[in-house]
Amino acid sequence: MSSSSKDIKNTLQYLATGLVAWEETPPDKRDQIPQALRLGMSRMYAAAALSGKPVPTTLPEFFKKAASPIKSWWEPAKTLSTIPDNATLIEDGLVSDFAREWALSGKDSIHQNQELILVELKEFCDRYQLEESYRKARELIGIQPALKLVQLRKKLDTKELAKVRDFFKFDDEGFYRPVTDLFGGIEYRLCPRCGYFQRLWEGEYICRKKSCELIVRKQKLKNIRVISAEEISEWVAVTPGVHRYGTIPGIWELFLRDKLVELGAKVTLYPQVDRYDLLVELPTQKWAIDVKDWSYVSEERLSKVKCQPDVDATFVVFPDENDLNIPAIRKRKKFQPQALKGLQLKTIGEVIKAAKEIV
Ligand SMILES: [Zn+2]
Repeated sequence: MSSSSKDIKNTLQYLATGLVAWEETPPDKRDQIPQALRLGMSRMYAAAALSGKPVPTTLPEFFKKAASPIKSWWEPAKTLSTIPDNATLIEDGLVSDFAREWALSGKDSIHQNQELILVELKEFCDRYQLEESYRKARELIGIQPALKLVQLRKKLDTKELAKVRDFFKFDDEGFYRPVTDLFGGIEYRLCPRCGYFQRLWEGEYICRKKSCELIVRKQKLKNIRVISAEEISEWVAVTPGVHRYGTIPGIWELFLRDKLVELGAKVTLYPQVDRYDLLVELPTQKWAIDVKDWSYVSEERLSKVKCQPDVDATFVVFPDENDLNIPAIRKRKKFQPQALKGLQLKTIGEVIKAAKEIV
């Protein structure tokens, strides 16, 4: 698949997801455009600006067009055979079945929608060359997914985070929300590993992320912070989607960075606004590292990771402790070289060991 057809598919997916979200929004709240729809439209607009082909730019215009065949008003759609000629986004005044099929759906749909803010932050920082702001925002989400509002405010006053302050508003689109808007309860507990609010499951508090809970048990982590219902109004936390897609992978990325820095390596987190996760500079070697906390590894997933130029090796790195990943890593020889395209699969432990041999 060429990258442009992938872009078209992604844009269509955002538009469809946004329309479904729009339909689910109560009519009195429809002045807030769903994030996915906004992102889809801005992507469509950005691509059209390059090609010179017009696209709807306002919401009323978009809704009007959405009722007619996509291929009649959106030039790039014509190149995709997976879009039927007569497919529309809106049908009989409702979101079409076609759009529903394309919308991010299933049990993770809320999480996937919340994850869009991570994409938006990246696009924003990329556009305005805010590499350091991006790094600080991702570090904050990784290290403190839950904190007191006064602490968050102080952080947002710092130079780099102030530049991306808009992503930290407490509306439906910010990274953090008041905890009382996210979860109910009479007592609140923070996971001793990731620092996010646990959930009550069959009478027991556990981390919302299964792999995190496994590690808590394996490492026998016990320093659980308890926050009472009286105190909770002072607290804010990232949304569950941001926890899943930002905090949890961030923990591994930050862990590996710290370990490599301890060894004396020079490490750049999210170089060039997240082209990959870590650039590691050792006396004789330069590595590009992408850390994945995937629950499964497949050739298809690996084919989306890019082998970086200008480095000696690109590693796709998996946590050691994550039991779900270990079988794939053990059987790594089964992956075809063409699927790997020069990528090397390693565990975090193996990367640290390899770095030790060089420094
Ligand atoms: Zn956790």
